[in-house]
Amino acid sequence: MTSDLSSPTAPPSGCRFHSRCPHAKARCADEEPVNETLENGHRVACHFWRDKNAGGGAPLVSIVSPKLTERLAVYRQRQALVDGAFKE
Ligand code: SF4
Repeated sequence: MTSDLSSPTAPPSGCRFHSRCPHAKARCADEEPVNETLENGHRVACHFWRDKNAGGGAPLVSIVSPKLTERLAVYRQRQALVDGAFKE
């Protein structure tokens, strides 16, 4: 995203990110995207998230960030150590 933040008290029409989103198209200025909940519980509100995730190029929406994946792995390793300590 580029540009300044829009006013939270007077957001722009359509998608509130359209004035600074690099993926914005004409539809974004007119129509507010539907807020969807994915199977994994994550939420997304973008007209084109399926298109951008369909392949080729960087995804518009990353379902699980690499940093989160890394943190979960560390958490699980430490949890296994704690679980092992209480079994003895
Ligand atoms: S609907 Fe999606 S592509 Fe359009 S402005 Fe909003 S975030 Fe960007």
